[in-house]
Amino acid sequence: MKKPKSVAGKIFEYDEIAEGFEAEADAIVIGSGAGGAVAAYNLAKSGRKVILLEAGPVARRSEMTKNAPEILAKYYWDGGLRLAKGTSFQPAMQGRMLGGSTVINSAIILPLPEWVRQDWAKSDGLYFATGDKFEESIHRISKKIHVTPTPWKVMGKRNLTAKAALDAAGIAGKPLPRAVKHCKGCGDCIIGCPDENKQSVDLNFIPEAMAHGADVYVSSHVKQIVKSRGKVVGVKGRVIQPFTYKKGGKFFVKAPLVILAAGATHTPVILQQSGINPRRTAGKTLMAHLTGGVIGFMPDPTDPWYGATQGYGAISTVYRGLKFESLWASPSVLSVKWGGIGEEFLRELKEVRYATLIAVVYRAKMKGSVRAGFDGSPIMKLYFPRKEVHTVMKAVKDATEGLLESGARYAVPMVRRVPKKIYKKEEAAALLNPKISLRDYSATFNHLFASCRMGTNEKEHTVDLSGKVRGIKGLYICDASIFPSPSAVNPQLTIMVLSDLITRRLGEFSQSDYL
Ligand SMILES: Cc1cc2nc3c(=O)[nH]c(=O)nc-3n(C[C@H](O)[C@H](O)[C@H](O)COP(=O)(O)OP(=O)(O)OC[C@H]3O[C@@H](n4cnc5c(N)ncnc54)[C@H](O)[C@@H]3O)c2cc1C
Repeated sequence: MKKPKSVAGKIFEYDEIAEGFEAEADAIVIGSGAGGAVAAYNLAKSGRKVILLEAGPVARRSEMTKNAPEILAKYYWDGGLRLAKGTSFQPAMQGRMLGGSTVINSAIILPLPEWVRQDWAKSDGLYFATGDKFEESIHRISKKIHVTPTPWKVMGKRNLTAKAALDAAGIAGKPLPRAVKHCKGCGDCIIGCPDENKQSVDLNFIPEAMAHGADVYVSSHVKQIVKSRGKVVGVKGRVIQPFTYKKGGKFFVKAPLVILAAGATHTPVILQQSGINPRRTAGKTLMAHLTGGVIGFMPDPTDPWYGATQGYGAISTVYRGLKFESLWASPSVLSVKWGGIGEEFLRELKEVRYATLIAVVYRAKMKGSVRAGFDGSPIMKLYFPRKEVHTVMKAVKDATEGLLESGARYAVPMVRRVPKKIYKKEEAAALLNPKISLRDYSATFNHLFASCRMGTNEKEHTVDLSGKVRGIKGLYICDASIFPSPSAVNPQLTIMVLSDLITRRLGEFSQSDYL
């Protein structure tokens, strides 16, 4: 195998490492998303030689065009077509590039609500979630990624119409805080920000980790953690050509400390493939926020493609753990949910410029699991009881009524068993049909977590309160996997905070502390 020349702070891309490589470091971080980037930064800053391994390529801003299907194909796992099984087949989207899902997310940054922090402390033993260090970390990270409420001037008509609808339904909201600088409101967050206004981690934590000497290897898919006598000794995997997925050479990186941050579905798979599965807890659970939504078609154009992707939202005071958010995605992505073909579809396309979409996101009680498929892809299962779906439907009904009240000609909740177009508020009662289940509509799962939970119970929790994987030395998890249960708000900030707390502490250790 070829040994590439290691220059501190360098990004090794496919062409340079296609034949495979070997390297050595003090610490390896697997996955460069919300959790991995923070881990790489803290460990590099503490003076360790860090190697960050990322399965996806570097996503260049020049490639972030308006061509949504192409961006999805290039920079989402399975081209954006990944599905979770369970109650029904549902899309479950995750980014696959340097910066992970933070590059293609909506950049909404909300702190973990106090009641969830207390729940984590009480149910799972995370006493620190209610403490000062947690709060300090929220502020430290929010400052670095430039969290700021969406300015009114970039709301666009779509967000303002969503606000009017929520107001009409008696739901008090506010501009959503997001990780952005000088956002122009192009509405394309989920296909990447071409102007680098969204503060994804490839623009802050990763370059700063590199400034402290971290090397980054992209297109490097980790297959297995290598262990010997109860300690990690490194990781191995294969170089993968971007976009064609052609297999390149093998790689091996040696280090006494490994941070797993491959995201909630890949992290348990890597553990399972490595034969590291304390009490078979890794992947035994998988959780997600349950979603729903409704599109209102207004009398005047809203030109929904202008305005911050998710600029306005509200936390429900009626249904605990439920949020309303304005939302936009390009019609080529959204139309998958509308259905319709031929002339009918063309007529609907003409209506798009009058649209306003309100999404509902809910911390439902649910069950799930994830395991490695034959090719190492995660096989996800998510089960949501009908009762929880009904809570989402009640909220969709409220939003539907609000849209109609604020002037929408009709609303489309995209739910089977409900009229396709709802013209009058009374018709929205169809959303309370007790037969509606998750099989009757498409709920996209973008918030996935809790597949290797953190906590004090050895039988349930894969990692202890320090983030260490039980039963093996030198292995820690710093991504969405370790949530004990759903966050009730968008998860990015909480992932970064947990990673920050775990790796700042590790940074203070001497090597012998974790060996
Ligand atoms: C469309 C969309 C919109 C969203 N909007 C928001 C939002 O507005 N606010 C919010 O808080 N959250 C949002 N989220 C969720 C949020 O982005 C994720 O929860 C968060 O990024 C997860 O962080 P992570 O570190 O666990 O994983 P990720 O950020 O997904 O990073 C994991 C990384 O690991 C890499 N990886 C996986 N397997 C391997 C392997 N075997 N070897 C090497 N590398 C590997 C992946 O390619 C990826 O880059 C959104 C998600 C999506 C998909």
